Amino acid sequence: MDDGAATESIITAALSTLPPSQLVSLSFSLFSTFHRHHRRLSSLLSSPTLFSHTLNHLYSLPLQKKSLLIARHLLSTLHLLTPFFPPHSATPFSASISRRDLDAALLLLLFCEIRQHDPKLLEASPPADWHRVLTKYFFETLLSLSGIKTGPSEVLGCFIEILVKCKRLAGAAGCRGGKARRDVPASAAVVVAPLPSVEVGSGGSGECVICREEMAEGREACELPCGHLFHWSCVLRWLTNRNTCPCCRLRLPSDDVSGEIDRLLEGLVRVGRSQLNGDQCI
Ligand SMILES: [Zn+2]
Ligand SMILES: [Zn+2]
Repeated sequence: MDDGAATESIITAALSTLPPSQLVSLSFSLFSTFHRHHRRLSSLLSSPTLFSHTLNHLYSLPLQKKSLLIARHLLSTLHLLTPFFPPHSATPFSASISRRDLDAALLLLLFCEIRQHDPKLLEASPPADWHRVLTKYFFETLLSLSGIKTGPSEVLGCFIEILVKCKRLAGAAGCRGGKARRDVPASAAVVVAPLPSVEVGSGGSGECVICREEMAEGREACELPCGHLFHWSCVLRWLTNRNTCPCCRLRLPSDDVSGEIDRLLEGLVRVGRSQLNGDQCI
């Protein structure tokens, strides 16, 4: 089984753990999101002025910014999962992206879809003709585009495809040349400020695994969402370079879009693997 197919079966297994009422609720929120994107793309193509503004905006973005735009768009779709598979901590990125960025992302995805579907179509047309080509393609493939499907199972199928794309994107951004996943700093705004301070109880709390020194009774320690305690000075230094707990590797929010996609998917993959292994203890 290739990576994509393996990810697909893990995600399907994770979704199958949801009770029917939640699955219906997820399908409904997916359907309305896809439908909103579809309507937005439709108005974008129906207005030559808006189309040319969006295209100029895309032209002005360097390749790295374009990738970031797509990643932000995928992350906003991934957010739809959080009521059903909540991560330990909220992501620092807002679930919604600006209208201009949404337009640019939708147009870029349409370009990508056309390139995949018929690579010669755009090459054979001068840029002045792209509006006509894109509009024709969009309206001809109306029912198969952007998740506009007829039933909930088709919407879920489309969502699983998006999640597989997210996983691939996060994997590509996280690993370089097959090396281990890169470290990203924890988000200062979201992680550091709300971390609770707890007083180390009687008998101490064992050693802080970062400095290997005992945490003395009565001293204030920092508690990560997983419950592990560390000296404040040690953990703050640690989180400026990494967004994982030094004990259990729990991933904390970061200001890195790919890191956030990876973190949100991790919880889902854990549930899916557990379901596939027949292990109900997650
Ligand atoms: Zn320490
Ligand atoms: Zn931990």
